[in-house]
Amino acid sequence: MDNSFLLDAMDWSYSRVSSFDQCPRMFYLTYLLCKDRQDNAFAQWGTLAHSLLEQYYRGQVELWDLSVLYEEEYADAVTEQFPFPKLEDSYYSRGREYFDNFSGQLADETDVLAVEDRYTSTLHGIPVVGVIDLVLRNPSGLIVCDHKSRGKWKSKEERRKYLRQLDLYALRVKEQYGEWPSELWFNKFREGILDREPFHLSTVKEDADWFLRSIDNIYAAKKFPAKPDRFFCDYLCSVRKYCKHSGNQ
Ligand code: SF4
Repeated sequence: MDNSFLLDAMDWSYSRVSSFDQCPRMFYLTYLLCKDRQDNAFAQWGTLAHSLLEQYYRGQVELWDLSVLYEEEYADAVTEQFPFPKLEDSYYSRGREYFDNFSGQLADETDVLAVEDRYTSTLHGIPVVGVIDLVLRNPSGLIVCDHKSRGKWKSKEERRKYLRQLDLYALRVKEQYGEWPSELWFNKFREGILDREPFHLSTVKEDADWFLRSIDNIYAAKKFPAKPDRFFCDYLCSVRKYCKHSGNQ
């Protein structure tokens, strides 16, 4: 089947491209067949924390209200089941702990330039979209910051993969502010740590190439095979109810 007319209409983002990497079938069901998507407890928990941080950085809520808001909003925000109750307890407590201890300052930032910067742009003529959680400034320059709900990186390679997203955001920062960021930050709120990476122009080029090459691969794909991963298929895949590889169809 020729999917090019559907792909031509698409705005491309890091998450769309990486969903093809994660599982071509998930990409197919989500973006070409447009199946309705199912949430999961991990993502809902992450969305709640993102939303509270966004409201704080927009000046819509006070620092001292964050913990109470987290408690009040948790039940309505996290409606899906965690795989087992102990995991839910752990996530709930981590969130509470994070907001109890959040000082309002991630590190040495001095200015907040943008919060949830939802942008559209182009890369080599391809329409690109993204949302940057925070653009900050510190004495060394601009910072791209992404709030991440995941725990410890499984490997250096995994961290490097996630840095691709921040390098793509760096392109937007350069376009918007006329300067490259000096640092890329992951605010890993589940772990309560800030993971900082100095910015490198060479990796931006590498990651833009990866992004464009991946889109070419999607256009060239004749088949979209399943790439099952037990935990991901059972609990995280947003189109799991349409796939025989999920134990939670
Ligand atoms: S359930 Fe697993 S194999 Fe099926 S589409 Fe989702 S990620 Fe792919």
